[in-house]
Amino acid sequence: MRSHARGAMLGLALGDAFGATVEFMTPREIRAQFGCHRMIRGGGWLRLPPGQVTDDTTMAFSLADAWLESTASPGAEDCARAFDAWMRAKPIDIGHTVRRGIARFRRTGEALIPPSEDAGNGATMRCTPVALATLGAPLADIEAATLTQARVTHNNPLTDSATCAVVRMIQAGLDGTGIRGIMALAHELSHIHPIFHFRKRHEENPSGYIVDTMHVVLQGIDVNDSFEGVLLDVVNRGGDADTTGAIAGTVMGALVGETALPSLWLKALNPVVAKRCVDYADFLIQRSPAWQAN
Ligand code: MN
Ligand code: MN
Repeated sequence: MRSHARGAMLGLALGDAFGATVEFMTPREIRAQFGCHRMIRGGGWLRLPPGQVTDDTTMAFSLADAWLESTASPGAEDCARAFDAWMRAKPIDIGHTVRRGIARFRRTGEALIPPSEDAGNGATMRCTPVALATLGAPLADIEAATLTQARVTHNNPLTDSATCAVVRMIQAGLDGTGIRGIMALAHELSHIHPIFHFRKRHEENPSGYIVDTMHVVLQGIDVNDSFEGVLLDVVNRGGDADTTGAIAGTVMGALVGETALPSLWLKALNPVVAKRCVDYADFLIQRSPAWQAN
């Protein structure tokens, strides 16, 4: 369980660091510059040092901090305060929906935003800590914890459903349900909202719209059978590549576990980031009902 929890957190960071190099590039631009982009090398529009991560991973760290600081499942205000502290530390990038939600909390003191048309992927990319900490909890508690963190910045039925699906996909990796369970959850998601149906068409250049993001992530997981294979496929499609990389990376990392992650990529990941992933993973999974039951 610990190896798979570490796989989920490290997979998130690896996918983010790997994808950030080509974020907002088209597949054609990626091919012209790298052929196939296959190493963690930094750069990109953020001019990242090699092995550094972006908001996808650091927001997940701040959500993990909210769990560290609460004895029960953190409430919306706990999450809002953690995200506020994260924004105050001047992250290298920040999505506009996330910024708007946190700014609203600062202005009004209200931690939850009202329903919105904005179905961005920012609440989904940071959800890994919830998956680890609630493993083995009743489904209603898992979904409540997922939506509590989501609705500090996003409040949209598509974002809600996708974030709950990703949390449960990570848990399917953690609890041994495996790839069949992950794909069953993908189909369940497209049953609830047919717009998530992803088959056949090879989509490229995904935007930050959660539907575009999930199509690419789910197609990648569906047709490839290794962590590296999924990540190469998803990230070389460009667009919001650090975020498709982060989401695909956390699901696949949970599935394969720490020991099956590509060693060259792990070596390239910033060591401080890697240590934080491992420490948070160990803390969060040990808090889960599934761990406590053993
Ligand atoms: Mn990012
Ligand atoms: Mn992104």
